[in-house]
Amino acid sequence: MKMVNVLEEIAWEVLNEHWDHLDLSCKCEQCKGDVYALMMNALPPRYVTTDAGRVFIKVEFMNEQSLTNVLCQLAKAAEVVAVKPSHPLPKPDVPAVAE
Ligand SMILES: [Zn+2]
Repeated sequence: MKMVNVLEEIAWEVLNEHWDHLDLSCKCEQCKGDVYALMMNALPPRYVTTDAGRVFIKVEFMNEQSLTNVLCQLAKAAEVVAVKPSHPLPKPDVPAVAE
């Protein structure tokens, strides 16, 4: 039996749609993954076992009100990663010391 959390697809689409406009000092794959993981931890999963169920939930999330929570969690997750990235950020303002 295959079980899919449709929220994974929806959150990923929303993340990609808004990624370029997010206020993050680093936009690497690691930071993107961190934002995605934080979103998924905060959003209630919507598991389905059939394609019909998947389509049903996709349609539900075309509704702006259902999307509001996803967008809200995206904003929160981006804020967390912006303040506390999981890897050290390069400091472009400090010139590298030549050795
Ligand atoms: Zn990064």
